[in-house]
Amino acid sequence: MMQQEASRPVRKATRPVQAGPIRIGGLAPVSIQSMTCTDPHDRDATLRQVCELAEAGCDLVRLAIPDLEAASVFGQVRRQSPVALIADIHFDYRLALEAIRQGADKIRINPGNIGGEDRVRAVANAARERGIPIRIGVNSGSLPREILARHGGVTAEALSESALEAVARMEACGFADLVVSVKSSDPWLTIRTNRILSDRMSYPLHLGVTEAGTPAEGVIRSAVGIGTLLAEGIGDTFRVSLTGDPVPEVHAARSILRTLHLAPQGIRIVSCPTCGRTRVNLADTVEAVERAVAGLSGDLTVAIMGCAVNGPGEAREADVGLAGGDGDYLLFSKGQVLRKVPADRAVEALLDEIRRLLSEGG
Ligand code: SF4
Repeated sequence: MMQQEASRPVRKATRPVQAGPIRIGGLAPVSIQSMTCTDPHDRDATLRQVCELAEAGCDLVRLAIPDLEAASVFGQVRRQSPVALIADIHFDYRLALEAIRQGADKIRINPGNIGGEDRVRAVANAARERGIPIRIGVNSGSLPREILARHGGVTAEALSESALEAVARMEACGFADLVVSVKSSDPWLTIRTNRILSDRMSYPLHLGVTEAGTPAEGVIRSAVGIGTLLAEGIGDTFRVSLTGDPVPEVHAARSILRTLHLAPQGIRIVSCPTCGRTRVNLADTVEAVERAVAGLSGDLTVAIMGCAVNGPGEAREADVGLAGGDGDYLLFSKGQVLRKVPADRAVEALLDEIRRLLSEGG
């Protein structure tokens, strides 16, 4: 019998945890995370950014909690937030306790810098009482000296060993509602480390490439690092880290999930690179269509091709499309040529057809 090819990556089932309404792990949909970059003492600005991220499609938003005042603001934002909030804590376990008291849906700590066993245990007990998970994060920049010496530097084995030690510390406190992350700015190191962790434990993995850089470079590094792992079925939640406004992180994350068929495709535009045969201004047409469909929801593939050589063929494989001629376009829909349209009316004609298909349910 012929083997059926999987239509999307076959995911590894991990031990699920619940962060507010979002399930992480098991075979729950891969969730998208981001982090606010506003002043954590400024409630209004932070809440506004949380809402923007939620609107863009972010499932979980993380807030840095550098002091007790920020923990109190976190509580105020939490009460009005449309999405689950994660408190990001470093160094001071009392901040973790306060953030939990303020209603955090999940907290992120590095057990290596939060203090002795009694402090880690206090945080674990408080999280257990509230029924929230803890993400334990290890970064390539903060590996203990003994591990570095044992492995001769920052290697995938060194990072995974450090993460597994952190897991063991939490397990010793009787706490197992864990999400584990190991982050590095090197996508290849991130890939190899998470492969090892996925083999050696069953806790959900939070993926990310840290300090990925400006949007142009960072999106590629994240798509390679995170995308490779997701394609192998590894990873339950992730953040694309980009310098600046966090909303583009969510757009990039959605795009990674769509590319791997791990999320609904939405309105997908395919367009040719153009060549010497192109007799229309394809770039402007694609840009105009992209802008116009941004607010539409539904599942459609739209092909916008520069000429009739590959154009109609490609466009026919899409739900709807345009193929450029000499100053005009052929409009296709569901495998049929509908008509020729002048170039200056092509976008409008295509959009009418897209709306018609969406109203009929694609
Ligand atoms: S579809 Fe036509 S215009 Fe576009 S790259 Fe191919 S041959 Fe060139």
